[in-house]
Amino acid sequence: MKTSYMVCAMTAALALGGMQATWAETTAQILPQTMDMLKYAISVPTYHGNGQVPKLAEYFAGKLRAGGFPAADVQVIPVGETAALIARIHGTGNGKPVVATGHMDVVPANPKDWQRDPFKMVEEDGYIFGRGVADMKTGTVALVQTFIRLKQEGYKPKRDLILALSGDEERGEISTRELAKRFPNAEFVLIAEGGGGTLDPTTGKPTLFEVQAGEKTYADFQVTYTSPGGHSSEPSPDNAIYHLAKAIDRIAAYKFPPMSNEITRASLAALGQRTPGAIGEAMQAFAKNPHDAQAAAVIAADPAYVGQIGTTCVATMLAGGHAPNALPQSASVTVNCRIFPGTTPAQVRDTLVKVIDDPKAQVSAARPLLGPSASPIRKDVMDAVARAVHQRYPKLDVVPSMASFATDGKVYRAAGIDAYGVAAQFTKPNDTFMHGLNERLPVSEVAASLDYWHTLLKDVGSK
Ligand SMILES: [Zn+2]
Repeated sequence: MKTSYMVCAMTAALALGGMQATWAETTAQILPQTMDMLKYAISVPTYHGNGQVPKLAEYFAGKLRAGGFPAADVQVIPVGETAALIARIHGTGNGKPVVATGHMDVVPANPKDWQRDPFKMVEEDGYIFGRGVADMKTGTVALVQTFIRLKQEGYKPKRDLILALSGDEERGEISTRELAKRFPNAEFVLIAEGGGGTLDPTTGKPTLFEVQAGEKTYADFQVTYTSPGGHSSEPSPDNAIYHLAKAIDRIAAYKFPPMSNEITRASLAALGQRTPGAIGEAMQAFAKNPHDAQAAAVIAADPAYVGQIGTTCVATMLAGGHAPNALPQSASVTVNCRIFPGTTPAQVRDTLVKVIDDPKAQVSAARPLLGPSASPIRKDVMDAVARAVHQRYPKLDVVPSMASFATDGKVYRAAGIDAYGVAAQFTKPNDTFMHGLNERLPVSEVAASLDYWHTLLKDVGSK
């Protein structure tokens, strides 16, 4: 693989009379190797508990070393059954390093449920299929290939460019914490997932590109009642199920107050311009004046957008009682919350306690929580991303966004490092089946990812 890569690069240089090949030409040349690398990456089933991430990390490390990285600049860090990987291109100046990151793990896939083998990448009808093609082995492979390409071009950034790959983003993020500890002085982190380009579902034309600067915190709370129990022929009003039912009614009726930040105001303004009807108008009005209660009410009535203007909590699971002929000894409900940046899980718990307004209720957090996170909208980041996007789609709007799902970004933000989800790919909404069956990605996005990361990393590296 290494030899053919070198030969191609050299042929290109010679064909241009010794001048360096342009980015577009080199992308076409490294595309076959990139597809091979992606095919291999998909074939390694790196889901949680399968112990396969170290194998993929060693494979990437081998490719990086074969591509010209000194052994000392490539490191595989074992973390339990998984691993993280770091590679570094040293800068000539002493600016703070920029980190580019992706994850090597995937969510599980049951071959029985898929139309094709999930761990064998196939290309059909303009798409590549396989577990991880969208989330996010294409992004990760594009980063590895771009670092090799920069090395082979002899690119000397002004500040260190660091490739950091995590190995358990889908579960635990212990490897991400390991990585975050190693670059406390990073200027910012660019994540190859989250954000990215959207295509119009009918025309397939690009509509906008999002830079994911914040994400909501996921938190589960458990509301539990206990009662003495006893024989069901002797009912007592002290019944855990009755108490819980009242508490659930109060939770259902409660609306968290509208919130906004510079990210959601910018993103709702951009979205509002593209969304027809009352909801679009409400988005624009709310973006201008987040105290506009009427606009907030219109947005809150739409399940697709209510999460953009505040914390949401919803009952998702119920348990209680132990026999049809016994009074319940306990009853509980799981309440899943998506917490707006600026609010802590502890504050949401306090709110739930107040809303339930019953000292008999026990309200506990179901798992350890990481604070909500938002990074400032940085002009240097927005401008660099826009330049990379505009090479493909000139003048396309590049806007900040907040996600209601979680990425490695929150781990970096919790460590005090600005992090931005800037996935290279353009896709139609809900077209990639991430985490689902028959995950896919338009094959065009592999080459596009190579172009984009090459431009973006050279841009931020030269500052
Ligand atoms: Zn992912």
